[in-house]
Order: sequence, then C-alpha cells, then structure tokens
Amino acid sequence: MILIHNGTVIDGTGAEPRARTSLLIEGERIRWIGPADAAPARQQETTLVDATDKYVIPGLIDAHVHVSRNGREAVSELLKRDRDRLVLEGVESVRNILRSGTTAVRDVGTLHYIEMSLRWAIDAGHIPGPRMRTSGKFLAITGGHAFLTDGPEEFRKAAREQIRAGADTIKLMATGGAATPGQDVQASQMSADEIRAAVEAAHAMNRPVAAHCHGAEGIKNCLLAGVDSIEHGTFLDEETADLMLARGKSLVLTLAVANVDVSKLSATARADADRLMRVRGQLRERMRETVALARAKGVLVGAGTDAGGNPLAPHDFSMAGELETLVAYGFPPLEALTAATKNNARILRWEQELGTLEPGKLADLVILNADPVADISNVRQVSAVFKGGSQVTA
Ligand SMILES: [Zn+2]
Repeated sequence: MILIHNGTVIDGTGAEPRARTSLLIEGERIRWIGPADAAPARQQETTLVDATDKYVIPGLIDAHVHVSRNGREAVSELLKRDRDRLVLEGVESVRNILRSGTTAVRDVGTLHYIEMSLRWAIDAGHIPGPRMRTSGKFLAITGGHAFLTDGPEEFRKAAREQIRAGADTIKLMATGGAATPGQDVQASQMSADEIRAAVEAAHAMNRPVAAHCHGAEGIKNCLLAGVDSIEHGTFLDEETADLMLARGKSLVLTLAVANVDVSKLSATARADADRLMRVRGQLRERMRETVALARAKGVLVGAGTDAGGNPLAPHDFSMAGELETLVAYGFPPLEALTAATKNNARILRWEQELGTLEPGKLADLVILNADPVADISNVRQVSAVFKGGSQVTA
C-alpha cells in the first residue's frame, strides 16, 4: 500500500481543495481519502509519500489527441515515413504525455493505426504511456478534411471497419478543417444521411461518436443525428448550445493549438504553420465567445489538446497549455481542472474508473509542487505521477 500523506487534495469533482489530506492506495485503486490525522494506521509494508506543501490532483485526461503524429512536422511529411519510424516516435510521444501528468487520452485520428499498437504496448507494460481510447481513421468525405468515403452505406461500413480495427470511438470530420489546405472551415461537408449512418453503426456497437465541427450548421447536423461530442465547436451559437444541453451532448474544446509561437518552429514546419496561423487567427477570437457561451449555458465542456494534429502541437505538457488557455479564456482554474478530469472521463465513458479522486477509483494522480488553483500554470510543476497505483518513472 502507498500512503500519500498530508497534501492538499483537489479531487476533480469541482469541490474546493482540501488541505492536510491523505490518500491510501491499495493495489491499483484508491482505498481511502480523509484528514491526514485520521489516516489509517500504517502497516509495515506501506510506502509513505510525504505530500506536505504539495498538491494532489487526478491524472489529467486529454480528450482530443493524435499520438501517432509528432506534432512537430506536417502530416504530409509524416506520411512519407515508414511505419516503424512513426511507431518509435510514438513511443516517445506517449512517454512525454504520461510524464507531464496526463494519465489517459482519447486518440481521435490515426496514421496506420499506430495508436492501436501503442495502446497494446502500454497496456502490456512494455512501454510507459497513458491509458487510451482510440478511434482509428477519421471518416470524411472525399475532398474533405481527411480522405476516405462517400454516401451513407460507405460511412456505415467505414465506421464498422474502425471498430473491427479496435476503435472504441468513431471520429467524423463533419465540417472543413484548418489542417487541410484549401478548406472552408464553415462548410458542412458530410450530409445528414452520412452522419446518421455512421452514428447508427457506432451506437449499435455501443461506441460514441466524436465529430470535428467548426461551423454552426455542421454542429447542428451532428447533434440532430445523435453525435455524442462536438470537437472544437468554434462557431457554437445559442441554438446549438441549447441543443447540446437538451440532448446531453458535450463540447470538447481545443484552444491552445491556435496559440503556438511560430518563431520556435523548424523551417520545414514553417510553411505549413504560416498558412495555419492565418486560419487559426480568425478562429481564435471566435473561440473566446464560444467558451463564454458554453460556460454560461452549462454545457458539458471537455478539454483536448489536438497535440499531433498539426506541426504546431507537440506532445510536451500539451494539457498544461490547454488548461492555461482555458483559464485565459475565462474558466476559473478549479473549473478548468474539472473539465480536464471529471468531464473528460465522462466524455471518454471512463467515469466509473477515472477522473476523480474517490475511494474505489483507479489511483491515477499527479502530485504538484505548487498550487494549480492559485496559478493554473503550476500543473507544470510535476513532482510525481501515479498511474494505477504505480509511480511513473518514465
Ligand atoms: Zn484533431
């Protein structure tokens, strides 16, 4: 057993931080949480982790990431590389994700199903990395934001193929996107019939559907067709926010990806980045309105990094950057932490096991050297990461 003793615990439920609190881990689960002076008597085999002057939060969850891409180079460059090299680079990416305090992710778009291999290696204990939900290839119309398929029957089949490949979420590209040249982000690319066919196929296999959407019409089409989470959601408006709320659907914000310092990029990444930044600049201002609207309406908001989604999004403390941006856009730090833990666990359909620090749940947690509620950037001050009750030594 492990006793994490006398820290300030922020449990992820949205409750105020609790000072002088201890947490007992037995095996891979949390067994007890309570006041430090009421901690269960230590047995000989209990390891003590002194958390005095430290802060304990649930492991962060990234609801929107692409682990098979390094986030430093354009996808067109990565596609020229052989799979082995991409896999080995992916090993580095998942290690960086875990050691920066993110203990679970949802991958929403693969290259060569690399995330399935990484997930297997992580779960088998061969390499360090976060727990993973996966979605395989994203489904998009020919000429859309990705390349695959057309018509309801093809979408139905494509969704089933991803599930056969190991996907536990289906990812749709419902509107244009910034990462593909020549796209109008407002365009509603998939037809309502196509969205519905993919949703039916996914739901029949008990898989949720996540849809990349910028324009409001695309968001509306997706919500009406039964899509479970709207990714990005840039042009969310009153109508679509109300619809989201009424149907119990969620919004996964990806804010930081638009705010990267282009001057730090390599020359090869620069060309793609310059183009991206023009589109991103337009989206960024609108995102502030969307964040405020979603919060005012009480929409279930999740947080994603979109790390790996383009050359501006490396896998290095990417959730910290996302949390910082969420706070800069108006979320109080405690609410931002709840979005990145409890809310994301719900969106990943993992809330029985993850997302909050409560007895019975998996002991995925991060010990920080400084208070993240006083300054959200303190999520970068990682002292230790535990996944399933084991300290990460990545
Ligand atoms: Zn993405």
